[in-house]
Order: sequence, then structure tokens, then C-alpha cells
Amino acid sequence: MMTLPLIFTDSEKADHNERMRNPIAALVARQGFAWPGGYELWALTDDGGVLCRACCRTEYPRIATADPGDGWNVIGLSHDGETDSRVDCDHCGRMIRDDWENED
Ligand SMILES: [Zn+2]
Repeated sequence: MMTLPLIFTDSEKADHNERMRNPIAALVARQGFAWPGGYELWALTDDGGVLCRACCRTEYPRIATADPGDGWNVIGLSHDGETDSRVDCDHCGRMIRDDWENED
């Protein structure tokens, strides 16, 4: 059996190292949805904030260099299969998940 050598370009190594600065936010930004189910992912910050997948992508440099409690320190993730409540992004204000129980 032939095995392929693991050779990465400098660009791939830099990309990997950047993603590893905050792998949770990188996953939310890159993957965006949980499978199976297709639930939209969002990131949770250590001060109780929520960041949508788009903000995890556009604000990744701030997230990757965040300090505890500064509003950008991503420590977890969730998705709309885990709550019945409305969820809004605390940065851009986009409604990530609607509150279906209170819908008319
Ligand atoms: Zn957002």
C-alpha cells in the first residue's frame, strides 16, 4: 500500500496555525452548521455573549487575540437545536434563531 507524504505548503501551515489560536471560533466560521440536522452554529464568549458564524469569520483576528472578559474570548459553541429561545448575535445584531414558540 502506498502512503502519501504529509507535505503542507507554508500557506497551509500558516492557515492551520491561525485556526489553532481559537479552534472553536474557527470551526464556527468555517463549518457554520452542525451535521446532521443543519443547525446553524454560533460561538459563546466567556462573558456570556453570542457571535454568529459571519462575525466569527470577519472578527477572527480579534477573537484569536482576545483576553478573558473582553467580549471576544470564545470558549464554546451551540446551535439552534439546543434552545427554544431567540438568539441574536451580540456584535452585528443579526437574529440567528427565531423564538418559534412566540410566533403568531
Ligand atoms: Zn454577527
